[in-house]
Amino acid sequence: FLIKSAEFIKSAVRFENYPPALYPEVAFAGRSNVGKSSLINCLVQRKKLVRTSRTPGQTQLINFFLINGAFYFVDLPGYGFAKVPLKVRAQWGPMIETYLTKRESLRGVVHILDIRHPPTPDDLNLWHWFRDNHIPAIPVVTKADKIKRGQWDAQMKQISLSLGIPTSEMVLFSANTQQGRSELLGKLLDWLIP
Ligand code: GDP
Repeated sequence: FLIKSAEFIKSAVRFENYPPALYPEVAFAGRSNVGKSSLINCLVQRKKLVRTSRTPGQTQLINFFLINGAFYFVDLPGYGFAKVPLKVRAQWGPMIETYLTKRESLRGVVHILDIRHPPTPDDLNLWHWFRDNHIPAIPVVTKADKIKRGQWDAQMKQISLSLGIPTSEMVLFSANTQQGRSELLGKLLDWLIP
């Protein structure tokens, strides 16, 4: 599966400002600093399509990227960063909920987790919210290269138990080594081109 082109289309906060829902799309969600930008850049093989580590406190935006002129990758603002002002944090829930429940072209969400840590309460809230609202979501456990290979199974097992799904439904990933890239692209393609 080849990514031939990836271009930034626009940022939006409000539903009215999303680009027209002309293409199927996949969204990416995760805690701030979890490795979301690196994962998207790795998928599209571009170093800086998504800018990493934006200054906290800035307005949080939903970013739309057109891939191969055929579908959107949607970068959702990261959550759980303590230094984000309360006012900005309070906007996150309604903004995300509106996007996830109203965007008719949304096919599924890539939920990014860190192999080194058990899911945070914020991670679990979002995960259960996906389940309760019947939004297809795939947990992608990233930064695999940060721990020893021998620890992968135990960490994946712990995360899968916490999420309540088998490890076979999660993808082990590393933006540094590109591990898991083809597997994840394959799964996304199943969503985008059924
Ligand atoms: P975001 O805030 O979720 O978009 O996170 P970033 O993509 O900016 O990544 C946060 C930090 O983790 C950066 O320093 C990245 O270089 C690093 N990082 C992201 N993915 C990986 C990975 O797979 N392996 C390693 N070793 N570092 C990573």
